[in-house]
Amino acid sequence: MNREFDILIAGGGMVGLAVALALLQGDASDQCKITVVDAGKRPAFSPGQEVSLRVSAIASGTASQLASLGAWDSIAEARVCPYRDMKVWDATGSVEGPETLRFDAADFAVPQLGFIVENILIQDALLSLLDAANVSINFETRIRSVQKCGNRYVVEYGNGETMTPELLIGADGASSFVRNSAGITVRSWQFPQTAFVTHLQPELSHRNTAWQRFLANGPVALLPLRDGRVSTVWTTTPEQAEELLNATDDQMASLLTEATDSVLGNLSAAGPRGSFPLKSQHADRYVLDGLALVGDAAHAVHPLAGQGANLGLADARVLAAVIAEALAAGEHPGDLPILRRYERARKVANKSMLHFINGLNRLFSNESTPLARLRGAGMALFNRSGPIKEYAVQVALGIR
Ligand SMILES: Cc1cc2nc3c(=O)[nH]c(=O)nc-3n(C[C@H](O)[C@H](O)[C@H](O)COP(=O)(O)OP(=O)(O)OC[C@H]3O[C@@H](n4cnc5c(N)ncnc54)[C@H](O)[C@@H]3O)c2cc1C
Repeated sequence: MNREFDILIAGGGMVGLAVALALLQGDASDQCKITVVDAGKRPAFSPGQEVSLRVSAIASGTASQLASLGAWDSIAEARVCPYRDMKVWDATGSVEGPETLRFDAADFAVPQLGFIVENILIQDALLSLLDAANVSINFETRIRSVQKCGNRYVVEYGNGETMTPELLIGADGASSFVRNSAGITVRSWQFPQTAFVTHLQPELSHRNTAWQRFLANGPVALLPLRDGRVSTVWTTTPEQAEELLNATDDQMASLLTEATDSVLGNLSAAGPRGSFPLKSQHADRYVLDGLALVGDAAHAVHPLAGQGANLGLADARVLAAVIAEALAAGEHPGDLPILRRYERARKVANKSMLHFINGLNRLFSNESTPLARLRGAGMALFNRSGPIKEYAVQVALGIR
C-alpha cells in the first residue's frame, strides 16, 4: 500500500499525542497522514511556571517508552522527581509496622521505581517533537458529531468542517465522545469518591518516597516533587473533598497532616487546589471497523495505583505498532481483524489491572475490624513473599 493512510486522532492528551508520535516514528510513517484535534487550549510548559496540579507517577518502563520516542531527555531535564521507595500502609497500622508494604528500588536492582511528572510537561515534550514533523495538530477544535458511513466515520468539528479518516482513534478521555457516538458501551463500577489534589510543604524531607495511607474513605498519597514539596492526592467522599477545597490553608493542611499520620511531620499549604470526580469503567470493545479507542477513552482506573496514564501510553505503543505492521504488510489497518490484534494485546492486561485496583480500593475502604486484621496479615505476608512481590513490582514498573 503506497498511498497515504488517513488517521484522525481525537484528543491531544498524553495518550493521543503518544500515538501520533509512535506512528510517525514507526516503519510505515511515510504511509500515514496524521491529524490530531483537541477541544482544549494547546498545553504549554515553561520551567518558570508553578508546578502544575496534575502530576502522574510514571513507571520506569513508561519513561523508557517516552525515551524511545525521543521525548524523555527534555522531560527529565525540565522537572521530574524520581521516587526510589514506596510505602503503603493502613490507617489501622503504623508506617513502621511489619504490615506496611515497602518497595525499595535497590531491592529490585533499579535506580528508581518511577518519576513524578507533570502531565502538561509530557504533552509539551510530545508536541515539540510533533511540531517538527508532518502532523496537523489543531487545538480548540471540538468534535461535535461522529457518524458511521460504510466502514468509516464522518467526523464533524464545531466550525462545521468534516473529515472522513480511514481510521478514527478515540483518545478523548473518560467521557469519550467518540466512544459514545460509535455506540460502544462501558462497564462501570460506582464508587462515590472524589480526588482532592494540592501541593504541600512537608516539615520533614520526602526522601524521594511515594507515601500512601489507606483510610476508610479512600487512600491519601504524598508524592515527592523536585523542589521538596509533595503533591497530595486524597481520594475521599465528595463532601470531604468539598470541605478541603473550601477550608482555610491552615485547616486544610492540618486535616492532611492528620490523614497522613504526620509521616512527614506538619504539612503546610503550598499550592493551588483542585478536585476530580473519579470513574472506574471499561469499554466493552476497543475497536470497530475504522475506529479504535486508547487511554482513558477505553479504560478509566482509580488513581490509587498510579496506573491510568501508564496503561494508556502502553495502548499507544501497541496500537501504533499494529498499524505500522499492517501497513508494512500491505494490509488495511482500519479493518476490524487488524484492529482486533491491538484489542487482544491490551484489553486483558487493562482489565486485570482495573480489577486489581478496584479490589484494593474495596478491601481497604472498609472499617470492619476482622477485615483490617486479615488485611494487615496479608500485607505482612506479601512483604515476605519474594517472587510474588517481585512480580507485582515488575508490573508496577511497567516492565511486564
Ligand atoms: C487525581 C488523579 C491522579 C492521577 N494520577 C496518576 C498517576 O499517578 N499515574 C498515572 O499513570 N495515571 C494517573 N492518573 C490517570 C491519568 O491522569 C489519565 O489516565 C490520563 O491523563 C489519561 O490520558 P488520556 O490522554 O487518555 O485522556 P485525557 O488526558 O483525558 O485527554 C483527553 C483529551 O481529549 C480532548 N477531548 C475530549 N473531548 C473532545 C472532543 N469532543 N473533541 C476534541 N477533543 C476532545 C480533551 O480536551 C483532552 O485533552 C490520575 C488521574 C487523576 C484524576
